[in-house]
Amino acid sequence: QIVTRIAPSPTGIMHIGTARTALFNWLYARGRGGKFLLRIEDTDRARSTPEATEAILEGMRWLGLDWDGEAVSQFARVPRHAEVAHEMLAKGHAYKCFASQDEIEAFREAARAEGRSTLYLSPWRDADPASHPDAPFVIRLRAPRDGETVIEDAVQGRVIFRNDQLDDMVLLRSDGTPTYMLAVVVDDHDMGVTHAIRGDDHLNNAARQAQIYRAMGWAEPVWAHIPLIHGEDGKKLSKRNGATGVMEYAEMGIPAAAMRNYLARLGWSHGDDELFTDAQAIEWFDLPGIGRAPARLDMKKLENVAGWHIARMSDDVLLSEIDDFLALTGRPPLSQAQHDLMAAAMYCLKDRAKSLPDLLEKGQFALASRPLQLDEKAQAALDPVSRGILHELTAQLQNVSWDRDTLEAVLTRTAEAHGTKFGKLAAPLRAALAGRSVTPSVFDMMLVIGREESLARLTEAAS
Ligand code: GLU
Repeated sequence: QIVTRIAPSPTGIMHIGTARTALFNWLYARGRGGKFLLRIEDTDRARSTPEATEAILEGMRWLGLDWDGEAVSQFARVPRHAEVAHEMLAKGHAYKCFASQDEIEAFREAARAEGRSTLYLSPWRDADPASHPDAPFVIRLRAPRDGETVIEDAVQGRVIFRNDQLDDMVLLRSDGTPTYMLAVVVDDHDMGVTHAIRGDDHLNNAARQAQIYRAMGWAEPVWAHIPLIHGEDGKKLSKRNGATGVMEYAEMGIPAAAMRNYLARLGWSHGDDELFTDAQAIEWFDLPGIGRAPARLDMKKLENVAGWHIARMSDDVLLSEIDDFLALTGRPPLSQAQHDLMAAAMYCLKDRAKSLPDLLEKGQFALASRPLQLDEKAQAALDPVSRGILHELTAQLQNVSWDRDTLEAVLTRTAEAHGTKFGKLAAPLRAALAGRSVTPSVFDMMLVIGREESLARLTEAAS
């Protein structure tokens, strides 16, 4: 069975790169009847606060990436990591090194001064255990000295590391805590991870981690190191050239389904397909489709993707996304009446909306209550002549049947009676019904808010 995982270090936010890596792992597992696991790499106790962990979970939940089983805490597994280090020691794959930090530093300085390699080779590697002092020690891997460590990476291809350029890495520190390298390998092994899909900033670690797997005789996962995400300017993503936290996108009102589609295309492709559903992404996602060049953020593209998804989402889902969006951004929730009106209006809003706030903006006529706030253009549209026509229109509309054809006929007739075209009436009508100049069609608005509210707004604007 395929087992993938996301193993974020809780640093305070969920980075968009982490979100994309999580998505790739999720898609890979979900498309193959596999498992997708979550491990919080919380061994750095200073940074790993409950809030930082919560930020990861919040990002995962928002993106809709459900993981199998409980989230695993790496810190909780420290005794197991130490156990493996001691097992490696017992089997001769590792050794105790009693060199102090000062000694190592002195070695490096001398090496630098003499122009030699600063790679530390511990004299304890071959020392007779009988000569071991009763002093603090670290446990180091007895790494191969000759030859190469080769990683067959599903994205990067064959990557070769010369063993004489890798030192005997520390597995267990003198205080008994594991290093990152050891913890990741032990956890991935114990969790049955078959595919390590992660950022290519971990490619060098793969060589070191592979050495641990090979020493233990454990099966290595398939390695897949994916290129990082760059900002819109093509430079490394930072606060300055793009939104780095995944929740920033939630706060912009990008629906999670659209974000999944967009993130899937950041670094992976399936022919020319840009817009697709979760089901398609799950069916199509594979490792050969991952590119080797860094992906670039593109907000214009994100808007298009969001628009496509909004147009296709069910009204119910959109409404609940709107509720979540309002709560997330600390805005007041919709009342029941506003909810019902938004639901009724959704058909005329969702075709051109690029985000949830855009949808709310276009649906403002349905959410507003009298007296309407008029923006500047709306005020200008309600000149005395227009107000006169609206007044008359109100009278004409009193007893007609409230359907699109009748409304259109009455509006056209009234406009003609005033020697003008219906088009000329549109601006004052938009102003009267919505208080603004950019709105859905006047017929849609009148049908959504109904006869009573429409006539009340027209009367208010005409007076
Ligand atoms: N904790 C690492 C990170 O957040 C990921 C380690 C891994 O995927 O192997 O970058």
